[in-house]
Amino acid sequence: MKLNIQDTFSKELPADSVLENSRRQVSGACFSYVNPKKTSDPKMIHVSDEMLTAIGLHADDKTSDSFLKVFSGNGVLSDTKPYAMCYGGHQFGNWAGQLGDGRAINLTEVVHNEKRWVLQLKGAGETPYSRGADGLAVLRSSIREYLCSEAMFHLGVPTTRALSLALTGDQVLRDMLYDGHPEYEKGAVVCRVAPSFLRFGNYEILAARNDKKTLQTLVDYTIKHFFPELGAPSKEAYIGFFKEVAKRTVDMIVHWQRVGFVHGVMNTDNMSVLGLTIDYGPYGWLEGFDFGWTPNTTDAGQRRYRFGNQPNIGLWNLLQLANALYPLVEKTTPYEDILNAYKTDFEQKSLQMMRSKLGLTMKNSKDMALMDDLQDVLQQTETDMTLFFRDLGNFIKEVPEEGLAVISDAFYQPEEVTGTVAEKWNTWFTTYAERLQKEPISDAERKTKMNAVNPKYVLRNYMAQLAIDAADEGDYTLIDELYQLLKRPYDEQPESEKWFAKRPEWARHKVGCSMLSCSS
Ligand code: AMP
Ligand code: MG
Repeated sequence: MKLNIQDTFSKELPADSVLENSRRQVSGACFSYVNPKKTSDPKMIHVSDEMLTAIGLHADDKTSDSFLKVFSGNGVLSDTKPYAMCYGGHQFGNWAGQLGDGRAINLTEVVHNEKRWVLQLKGAGETPYSRGADGLAVLRSSIREYLCSEAMFHLGVPTTRALSLALTGDQVLRDMLYDGHPEYEKGAVVCRVAPSFLRFGNYEILAARNDKKTLQTLVDYTIKHFFPELGAPSKEAYIGFFKEVAKRTVDMIVHWQRVGFVHGVMNTDNMSVLGLTIDYGPYGWLEGFDFGWTPNTTDAGQRRYRFGNQPNIGLWNLLQLANALYPLVEKTTPYEDILNAYKTDFEQKSLQMMRSKLGLTMKNSKDMALMDDLQDVLQQTETDMTLFFRDLGNFIKEVPEEGLAVISDAFYQPEEVTGTVAEKWNTWFTTYAERLQKEPISDAERKTKMNAVNPKYVLRNYMAQLAIDAADEGDYTLIDELYQLLKRPYDEQPESEKWFAKRPEWARHKVGCSMLSCSS
């Protein structure tokens, strides 16, 4: 199918498409048909030219009335039936029952250049899964989702994508910090795009209801469309499916650890079976390298979803998926074997990833110790992860004693890097230099390799917040500036050097920069 909005757009929505019952338990089905809700004064803020092309649209389309209507939820494409998906999930370690697309509506599927894309609106009104909430999204969280999903893609991290960001013209009431001070904020709609938005929770809900028939239908559908190499439905194919999801989950989380991304809400309803980063909520980017850090204030007590715990949570979530898929195979051993392999698979891939960050092209039995020592010294005093690894590319193996000077920009409190801390650093640099002597590549070659995996630009939490503050005032230029900057995160962009800098002090404890909640 080729999407041509000018030709195919036709239908106006009924004036009132609000659902009669948004607390419905949906049984025996994987989704429910639902139309987006009309908004009072829609306005397109930004469109991703890349995604426009990817789904087969043209540059002209993005300025058309039809485009605005469809992607702000004010009209549906002809011959399409938008739907919301049913899923459950484990939230913060507990089974939460039916959740579902409470504010996401899948418009249609498009196949272009042999790629299948689902176009989904987030924040376009109530669905049967809204559970009494409004189905809407605010501008701040929509900007964060829009910018971050595109930035992650360009960092090489598997992710859902974003096509467009629109204002609805409506006000949305939110208690941002859950402290009893709700305020009206601008409403927005993002069009997200992915081959599929299927989550672990889509399977869990069916298993929880003992609905083996629908579970099997859904797994067969998933394999047929997204894992065709596994062949016709069979017990082997179901195990193969789980194995592939586990592999992709490992790969995704290794990438998160590489770039310093903390998802913030790794509930099983936010885990994609395609191994895509999905649902950008209270996520954050590491500034100081700290395994204990989480951006999510809702999780501040337990810190379940802290940076250093993401690998463990990936495994925990896979265990829930294994339980859900068990009825199709009725044997535990194959699942256990895959889960047992997760840890070693993760360790190996993580070690390889760290080698690449340090510019090591060969393997050495002492590499694990080198990484452990680095992670230890990185956490001695607050050290900016992005600056550190990028600057480390300038290290010269003949002069390890200059190592500290090479990376000194990364320290938030340089005055603390004295005495034993400085000694630890110097010891590490000496070991690193010795290790580099065993490498067949030159310093210059190493730098090129390191720059390809250590981004220069990431969407620091305060950068997104600056774009949000400006957008609240009607100025969208920073959204575009960051969008363009983050398309080339590994490139030197001398005109944008100001974004290659530590988080400014004013942002240290500012809401939206270091403190984020699930309210969105
Ligand atoms: P999240 O924490 O954003 O992954 O959301 C968890 C669940 O709550 C999902 O089922 C969402 O669809 C639902 N949800 C979150 N916000 C809203 C909202 N404003 N209206 C309806 N459902 C929502
Ligand atoms: Mg979610």
